[in-house]
Amino acid sequence: MSEDGAGPGGRIALVDVNNFYVSCERVFDPSLEGRPVVVLSNNDGSVVSRSAEAKRLGIKTGTPWFQLAPSAPRWGLVARSSNYELYGDLSARVMELLARFGTWQEVYSIDECFLGLAGDEAQLREAAGRIRSAVGRHVGVPVCVGVAATKTLAKFANHVAKRNPHLRGVCSLGSMPPGEAEHIQSRVPVTGLWGVGARTGKRLNAIGIETIADLKAADPLLIRKRFSVVLQRTVLELNGTACIPPVDERADRQQVMFSRSFSTPVSTAEQLDEVMAVYAQKAASRLAAEGLRASVLTVSAGTSRFSGEAAFPAATVRLPAPTQDPIALTKAAVAAMRGCMVPGTAYVRAGVVLTGLEPADGQETLEPFAGPQEQRQLGGLLGSVRAKFGESAIGLGAGGLAAPAAWSMKREFSSPRYTGEWAELPVVRA
Ligand SMILES: [Mg+2]
Repeated sequence: MSEDGAGPGGRIALVDVNNFYVSCERVFDPSLEGRPVVVLSNNDGSVVSRSAEAKRLGIKTGTPWFQLAPSAPRWGLVARSSNYELYGDLSARVMELLARFGTWQEVYSIDECFLGLAGDEAQLREAAGRIRSAVGRHVGVPVCVGVAATKTLAKFANHVAKRNPHLRGVCSLGSMPPGEAEHIQSRVPVTGLWGVGARTGKRLNAIGIETIADLKAADPLLIRKRFSVVLQRTVLELNGTACIPPVDERADRQQVMFSRSFSTPVSTAEQLDEVMAVYAQKAASRLAAEGLRASVLTVSAGTSRFSGEAAFPAATVRLPAPTQDPIALTKAAVAAMRGCMVPGTAYVRAGVVLTGLEPADGQETLEPFAGPQEQRQLGGLLGSVRAKFGESAIGLGAGGLAAPAAWSMKREFSSPRYTGEWAELPVVRA
């Protein structure tokens, strides 16, 4: 029985940038190619990203730099301070580019996303290869692509691609020789699986489940009873039944994003202002819902995969102070997009990503510009009007949608038909 038990046309790719931060540094400093490189956390504290050469030296993530510094010259080890603006920027470009290849996209973290793919096995392999070379050519970072019938198996396939250089960065489980995936699964500890942490791993070991293959063979109902519905889904997914649906926007500890395709292409700066105003406000409300504020904002846009010329402008700005204020975020997003878009280019997607996140419950930050108090109150007002009357009821500036803009995505902006009361609602302008 092969891994590809799902119906025709439905496959999932997991695309993941190799050693993301180090790879970003190499884009701008090719002399780092082939050398052991580490990227250090804030204030150059400890290792957060390692090149393959650094991994081979036995350097572990989290190692304090002062322990490595004495040996660095002897090893030829190069350290870089983390540059989150750069990483945010390249991440946005990678994601915009990848969106062209999928029937859907779920950005899972700063450097990985799931993509919906369709086609037969040969087409899937070909698509995975094109994905890999497109990211290399347009952005300059190396990725691995895992393709399978479920998200859990796509993650596993990606793991196989990473660890087997002869696969040249691409592993589609459906193309593996019979029994080979099973053979690997029987050697990889169960904690190597997406979503299985160390604690769950220990409890699984206690009932004799050591490897991925063991978990795959386990009784889903028993797993549900002794563990959780979540782990039961993992068992089902290992057996080829897709049951973890795509998540539209994910807020994790690293980033909050809002990214969408338009119903019609957008090619003027004014239209992109509108897009940015709406998307920044969406991201801001998500930020508020998570109780976070952001210190870095990235905007991006992308052209259609069907248009000859691929363009993926992106810009990242550090905000004057960490904020969750929709007005500050909207202004920053509009200005950043103005700075990188090229009028006349037909964009079909755009996104706003907020990074450098921190809890908003700490000390209140005073915005350097006028009226922080009013701005905060306004943010709260916008949120409560939206909660009560829907997303299109009220908005800021260019995003104040009295009627859906021409570019608006059908699903997101299908506003209710306004009645007399709706028209009475005040529109707040920044
Ligand atoms: Mg990665």
